[in-house]
Amino acid sequence: MAKIHELSVNLTNQIAAGEVIERPASVVKELVENAIDAGSSRIRVDVIDAGLKQIIVQDNGSGIAGNQLELAFTRHATSKINTEHDLFNISTLGFRGEALASIAAVSQVEILTNTGNAAGTRAEFTAGTKTIQEDAAAVQGTQITVKDLFYNTPARLKYLRSPRTEMMKIVDIINRLALGYPQIALTLVNEGRTLLQTAGNGNLGQTVANVYGRNIASKMIPFSSSDSDFTVSGLISKPELTRSTRNFISLLLNGRYIRNFQLAAAILDGYGTNLAVKHYPIAVVQIETDPLLVDVNVHPTKREVRLSKETGLRRLITGAISDALLDKEVQGSALANL
Ligand code: ADP
Ligand code: MG
Repeated sequence: MAKIHELSVNLTNQIAAGEVIERPASVVKELVENAIDAGSSRIRVDVIDAGLKQIIVQDNGSGIAGNQLELAFTRHATSKINTEHDLFNISTLGFRGEALASIAAVSQVEILTNTGNAAGTRAEFTAGTKTIQEDAAAVQGTQITVKDLFYNTPARLKYLRSPRTEMMKIVDIINRLALGYPQIALTLVNEGRTLLQTAGNGNLGQTVANVYGRNIASKMIPFSSSDSDFTVSGLISKPELTRSTRNFISLLLNGRYIRNFQLAAAILDGYGTNLAVKHYPIAVVQIETDPLLVDVNVHPTKREVRLSKETGLRRLITGAISDALLDKEVQGSALANL
């Protein structure tokens, strides 16, 4: 056996990147989440070659101070939590301090940022190491350019799907982020062509129209309900508007897109016998709750979370949806009687 030794920082960052940065869509997710956490009202994502050649994310958020830039790209360095208590009271999308270090470990990164108080800063990182930092003119906010993703991890490159599929995954994550944050104007541009542009005026119906089209948005029904622990609200499709997969169901927990089979089933239960077998609704279900009830620290990508009082939440969702559909029937028949 060889002698035991500690791994280099670059190597541990690459190992972490293996978990957090699976594909180009992971980079887009992490950078947009950072932009949201920075309080941005406008975020633009530009992609070339399904994100493998280049991903640019530009925001008008808080910016990063020049003397904090190196830290921002250091693993386990974050501005979002301090104490153990904070770890169980997460109100931001990020908190692990891993994304920037991981992305920089498997790509070439350029960052241009300005906190609005002084000159801006420009820096470059190659394979996780900062090569340049200088003052630079920049508007308030942050622009991060990620080039040649996975250029130094050929195994990861091989594992990727076709550019078309990778692009669809980017579109999907942007759609979910848009639905979680109707108050943020989000733009996705692919090779110069605008694929999505949300109004950012806080109107969920309009965001659904931006994401799925006007026709679908016009066939959605609002619902809302709350108990002492949760508030649920959103838009669901009329029973006659369905899809053959569950992919059009978006669960947004305090803005975070999550996957949860039980909660998705609770939505279907709300439809009762109104849905044919293997037909699934289009649904945007926003859940607001005290962060203390949510354990986000389950998986590096945070797509799955643990929820206290999940049974109550399921009941709340099912009830709110079945009430909304019932109201719709009553309204429909009232109209028919006119
Ligand atoms: P985390 O989001 O978990 O804190 P990251 O590696 O994604 O970890 O980011 C590290 C830190 O860099 C963040 O805590 C934040 O302070 C800062 N940061 C990253 N992106 C932005 C941004 N777009 N605007 C302002 N600050 C940012
Ligand atoms: Mg982050």
